[in-house]
Amino acid sequence: MAHPLEHAQSSARKFGGKPEDYLAIHRWFDESKAFFPDFRHRELRHHTQGIFLAENLFGVSVRNFDGAEIPVRYLGEQHVREDLGRIPTVQDWLIRIHPERWMYGQRL
Ligand SMILES: [Zn+2]
Repeated sequence: MAHPLEHAQSSARKFGGKPEDYLAIHRWFDESKAFFPDFRHRELRHHTQGIFLAENLFGVSVRNFDGAEIPVRYLGEQHVREDLGRIPTVQDWLIRIHPERWMYGQRL
């Protein structure tokens, strides 16, 4: 799955309401594509910490068109699972960075 609209449509099938109820959350997860346009953009928000960050930004839940309160965390988990098949941690992404000299910081 790739586009935020597809994720939002999936949310509406799973949790009720309309895709528009969820689109802002799914757009937020994929915004990082604007500055890194291949799959690696996902390392910034598609993980456990990203899901909790979404909850901080959008609130604990969203009220959908049907009047139901849907936990933002469930929507984040749905998004990440649909993209990656699992929910990685930040560590799962970061340990795959190949260290370069400059990353260790400057010697003063
Ligand atoms: Zn995504």
